[in-house]
Formats: sequence, structure tokens, C-alpha cells
Amino acid sequence: MTTLSTALRQAQAQGLDRLDAQLLLLHVLGQEAHDRAWLLAHDSDALPAAAEGRLAALVSRRAAGEPLAYIIGQREFFGLDLEVSPSVLIPRPDTEILVEWALAHLPLSPEPPMAVLDLGTGSGAIALALKAQRPGAQVQALDRSEAALDVARRNAARLGLDITFTQGNWLQGNHQRYHLIVANPPYVADADPHLPALAHEPRQALTAGTEGLDDLRTIIASAPAHLHPDGHLLLEHGHDQATRVRQLLHTAGFDDIASRRDLAGIERCSGGRLSGSMSAST
Ligand code: GLN
Repeated sequence: MTTLSTALRQAQAQGLDRLDAQLLLLHVLGQEAHDRAWLLAHDSDALPAAAEGRLAALVSRRAAGEPLAYIIGQREFFGLDLEVSPSVLIPRPDTEILVEWALAHLPLSPEPPMAVLDLGTGSGAIALALKAQRPGAQVQALDRSEAALDVARRNAARLGLDITFTQGNWLQGNHQRYHLIVANPPYVADADPHLPALAHEPRQALTAGTEGLDDLRTIIASAPAHLHPDGHLLLEHGHDQATRVRQLLHTAGFDDIASRRDLAGIERCSGGRLSGSMSAST
């Protein structure tokens, strides 16, 4: 008989982290994704034969490098359990910095409500986190990929969060104005040496030209025409792009340009405020 603790040891013997092995085991047993206490309490239980076969298949996929989030189809972001698929980038803890920053620009219940746009929403992570924290905000989420929008729509429906989803190519053809535009766009350079490690994720969500700045440039140049006076644009970018992104924001007419650091002290988000006169003149 294979017990749960034996199954965990076998998965680790194939090279898996203990945490990944535990999450896969919980998944095949149909238990809550994060209920590792349940596993500890049941470690001498027998693993049903059907679950053993399923677990072996999932352990092989993980050992071959497939991200855990895609195998179990789920990832936690800002306290929300999100569905993910290979059509969307896996939400990263880094992006929670952008969400925290955006929340600082969103009062709890302003009158009239604030209009927020998440560009390149993917799984919907940023838009959903903002709507969960600021139910009064009018949140719109846009992506170019219909497959990504399907995932994001399912997340919104399951979480009961009312978001407007739109298919589009950044701000092209959009005639609305927002108080806040946020984006975690593709920003990896086409020849970045880290790309092989990201091979399971959608390439179009990751790369943006030789310097990784193509989409950031497009968004920054077009945002002023879509912001209310004193509206903010806040962007996630690569670890070495803060100076360039601040320059681009400056050239586009933004004021109060600032960056936010991650836990390692690296500037990973930059943004600014569109002064009233800039917005009115566009
Ligand atoms: N943060 C991701 C990575 O470097 C990239 C995300 C993006 O391009 N927006 O792994």
C-alpha cells in the first residue's frame, strides 16, 4: 500500500520540491489547494490507486519543468484564487507591488466612482485584485488575446466581481478616459537569456522587441489621450528599465513621476500623473 507520506517521498525523489509535491497530492485528492494541514493529519492514509496514477503523471510533468500553476490550473494572487492556463502569464508576487500602488491612488468610495483600466489583463489578476479591494470602482480589463479574456471572464464570474472585459490592441480605437490606467505589459527583450525558463508561458505576453520596451512605449505615448486631468498611469517593467520608463513618461508629459521597488530593492514599477493642462489639450 502506498501511503500519502510515501507518495510525497517518491515525488521528491523525482526532483520535486516538497511544497510542489504536497500541492500536486492535494490536487489529485481533490482537497483545497492550500490545505497542507490536512495532508499532515492524513499522512498514513492509503493513496487510492486511481489517484496514484494521476499523481505519477503530474509529477512527471512538474519534473520536466512545467509550472505548477499550469498543472493544477490555479494560482493565488493578492488573496484571490485564480484560474490560470497556458493562454495567460502566471501572476507573479512582483505584480502585487503594482496593485498596492494602484490602491493608494484609489480612495475607498469616491463620488463619482473612479474609472480604472487594466491593459493586458491576462488572467485578470490586477483588475480582479483592484475590484475586490475597491468594489465601487468601475474596472475595465483589456487583452488582445480572446483565450486570455475567456480565463479572465471565468475568474471574474467565479469571484463574483463585476468587470467590463474588452478585446483590443492597447488603447487603439478606444475613446474613453480613465482616472487610472495600470498595466503589466510584455517587457522582456526578444533575446533575453531568461526566456528558456519561461518557455511554458505565452510568448506574446512576455516579449516586446529588442529592448523589451516596445509595448511600454506604445502604452505611455497613447495614455495621455485616455486619462482624465490628474489621472495616473502605473506600469510594471523589467529590473533594468526604470530609468528608460521614467524618461518615456517625462517625454509624454507626465508629472510626479516615481518608481516603486520590489523586496529586493529593485525598481519594478514606474508611473506618473497627467497634469490637468496636458489632458485637456489632447
Ligand atoms: N515578470 C515576468 C518575468 O520576468 C515577465 C512579465 C512580463 O513580461 N510582463 O518572468
